[in-house]
Amino acid sequence: MEGLETLKKWIDESNNIVFFGGAGVSTESGIPDFRSVDGLYHQKYDYPPETILSHTFFMRKTSEFYKFYADKLLLEGAKPNAAHLKLAEWEEKGKLKAVITQNIDGLHQMAGSKEVLELHGSVQRNYCMKCHKFFDFSDVKSKVEEAKALDPKSPDYMVPKCECGGTIKPDVVLYEEGLDNTVLTKSVNYIANADILIIGGTSLVVYPAAGLIDYYRGKKLVLVNLSATPQDRRADLVIHGKIGEVFSQL
Ligand code: NAD
Repeated sequence: MEGLETLKKWIDESNNIVFFGGAGVSTESGIPDFRSVDGLYHQKYDYPPETILSHTFFMRKTSEFYKFYADKLLLEGAKPNAAHLKLAEWEEKGKLKAVITQNIDGLHQMAGSKEVLELHGSVQRNYCMKCHKFFDFSDVKSKVEEAKALDPKSPDYMVPKCECGGTIKPDVVLYEEGLDNTVLTKSVNYIANADILIIGGTSLVVYPAAGLIDYYRGKKLVLVNLSATPQDRRADLVIHGKIGEVFSQL
């Protein structure tokens, strides 16, 4: 594969790699992305994912939100793939400083990565909007299942509820919501000081996350993506392929 040897050499020589990824990192683990041919945008829903996953939609049509969320993002049994595992291995060896991700699936931590900056939060953390009690992934999963017993026309159908009666909200940054400043600042620092920045599995169209690339000052900007991105021309090395397959050869 073209570029693979160069990437291998750069990785061998570096102990300051930073990885920045998106939904494409997890498609080989069975979690669909938003923009590929098989992604969520090409499936049939009453509303586009960006509308359903917005703050306004969550507040106004909570039941509709959870129908989509449970079906597409609250996925049980997904396992890290070769890309997640390789990144954890590089960190363990002292070669990689941080994984910055737009994903909310927790697969990097499951693979063993320690310094994971989740720009868009995580399905693993959930809070009651009324009393702020914490709920994990499986709590929410079973509460959504319980709420399936309700009339599908009920506003609470499939909506996970706290014992206090409040609605549980995932700690996920919905469209219209702001990113966590601490996570953003740390990400900027890692990227600004990175020797190699590898960007993988992201269409680089969701801002402000996509803008993070502008902070990189080095000369080893690597893009690993299935399809072309608006930033391909800026990169020092572009590899078009499946990230799990590519990383398993590194
Ligand atoms: P995106 O869906 O916009 O783009 C994904 C990109 O990955 C595409 O360019 C596609 O060509 C590429 N891709 C797909 N499979 C790949 C593979 N195996 N190897 C390499 N590249 C592959 O995703 P995005 O840029 O991350 O933005 C979408 C937003 O949706 C994110 O902000 C994220 O929060 C959210 N999201 C998260 C998940 C998840 O947590 N797993 C899943 C879907 C969407």
